[in-house]
Amino acid sequence: MVRCCARRAVGWRKWVWGLTATAVVLALPGWGKVLRGPAGDISLESRRFGGIEYVPLYDVAEALGLRLTWWYEARIIELEGRELRLSLMPGSRVVGGDRRTPVQMEAGVVFSRGVPYVPASFVTTTLAPYFERLRATARAGGGARLVVLDPGHGGRDQGAAGHGVVEKELTLDIARRVRAALVAKGVKVRLTRDGDVYVPLARRAEIANELGAAVFVSIHANAVNEQARTISGSETFYLSRAQTASDAATERLENSPLKDEVHSGWSALTARLKRFFLGNHFKQTRAQSIALAQRIQRRVGNVAVGDNRGIKPANLQVLRETLCPACLVEVGFLSHATDASYLRKEWYRQKVAEAIAEGIWEYLRTL
Ligand SMILES: [Zn+2]
Repeated sequence: MVRCCARRAVGWRKWVWGLTATAVVLALPGWGKVLRGPAGDISLESRRFGGIEYVPLYDVAEALGLRLTWWYEARIIELEGRELRLSLMPGSRVVGGDRRTPVQMEAGVVFSRGVPYVPASFVTTTLAPYFERLRATARAGGGARLVVLDPGHGGRDQGAAGHGVVEKELTLDIARRVRAALVAKGVKVRLTRDGDVYVPLARRAEIANELGAAVFVSIHANAVNEQARTISGSETFYLSRAQTASDAATERLENSPLKDEVHSGWSALTARLKRFFLGNHFKQTRAQSIALAQRIQRRVGNVAVGDNRGIKPANLQVLRETLCPACLVEVGFLSHATDASYLRKEWYRQKVAEAIAEGIWEYLRTL
């Protein structure tokens, strides 16, 4: 049976992706694998079921930047990415794909404590080479340097306001200037909104993930209440996942349209998601996010009026779901008369925007 499946594997590998397999998955002594995905390397813990090596599907999806949806009632697990959609069924060896003849895995999807596992060979011979090719294409086309800028608020959400400045207008103006400065350096840039429209926070991160962004920078302005109106200056936030892992995991579950079933059927899911959020991949991204925040804040702090308030960890929804290094820059306090009066001036906004662009550019050169 193993031999028969191995022969078949060669067939579908060739025909589904048109690729020769590249050995991008390395076996580690005894336990685990390293999978190279678009967001970096991730360690996969492998387990044996019925003599076959399996890896957890959550970690595979995460490493490859795919969204995993479990349609409980239909008994279908979907993996979805920018150019790929696969559906798997518990217990089945068949993997369906968009407009493609189904693929057969070495063995069926198994569950252990509520977590789905797929044969490691499926990842090594089919998924990993496919993503390796995507990475190569991205490198060749400069796609690895795509910057997604996120002008805070918009539409019915105006954000903060003070001294004649409305946050949603300010952030869009600065984002457009940052874009112009980066485009002039040959960097590809996309905005999460390029007009006065409302974009939900979760969607902003999704846009960056779908486009395969190398960097995500959200642009905002601060405001404080009456008592603290002397507070001024700029600061940059990065996500501290360590503090928010359980919140994030809970949120994932709460956001599921089938949460009752998920809760009852997937008792181990929360713990699993915690591990998933705290895994190697995120540790890596966190360090990169800090490096990005430092570079931006150093530049912005140099040109902005008011205090240089430095970089800070925070639990911000817009950063929480972003797979690439991400930060959120607050360019000044609209509640502070001087900050706001400068932010009303075009030359000042240009200066701040150029500082943000310089910080991003400096970071991109380290990649
Ligand atoms: Zn804001």
